[in-house]
Amino acid sequence: MSNTTAAERARHAARVATSADAFEASVGRGADRMLEFENLVRRELELIGEDPTRDGLLKTPERVAKSLAWLTRGYEMDVADVIGDAVFEEEHESMVMVRDIELYSMCEHHMLPFFGKAHIAYIPHGRIVGLSKLPRIVEVFARRLQVQERLTEQIAQAIQDVLGPAGVGVVIECEHLCMMMRGVEKQNSKTITSALKGTFKSDPATRDEFLRLAHGPRR
Ligand SMILES: [Zn+2]
Repeated sequence: MSNTTAAERARHAARVATSADAFEASVGRGADRMLEFENLVRRELELIGEDPTRDGLLKTPERVAKSLAWLTRGYEMDVADVIGDAVFEEEHESMVMVRDIELYSMCEHHMLPFFGKAHIAYIPHGRIVGLSKLPRIVEVFARRLQVQERLTEQIAQAIQDVLGPAGVGVVIECEHLCMMMRGVEKQNSKTITSALKGTFKSDPATRDEFLRLAHGPRR
């Protein structure tokens, strides 16, 4: 549970760059689909009263189509692929936790972003997973249209399925642009959801330890 080091941040940036390249390549394969997206965006621009032929907007349909494909790339990913062979036999039976995992998703009601942090913990029962895989599991489900409640549950269930641990806890805290930018305009509200399984549900001491660590002070 260490703070992010510069090296970790660099590795993360490299990973993002690599998947962006992979995405660019896949755009080539799905050219028809991307073209259809671009036409839709052009029409959308007209419908909101814009002129899609003016200079600043000429390349917007292409950019929007690409960015939307990127933001929803979770549909093309699955947990087994991101985990690969990073599950290890291990007798460790105390809580393993990774907190403050950055998370970006889009609400399925407004297709607007929500973003924040995920905190994930589990108690192994014979098997552990490479720590870097937990953020990857978050990505699989966050990069789709979501509601925060389902996202939380899906992450917990995926860890349950992959590791068969004694228990899993997931807490997600996010700000939703659909609440902040429109309607009620509750600028500073955070939505907190949790999913608890196994001993995290049945054992109050485990649950308390997890929630204390999830919400506790940052160094
Ligand atoms: Zn929404």
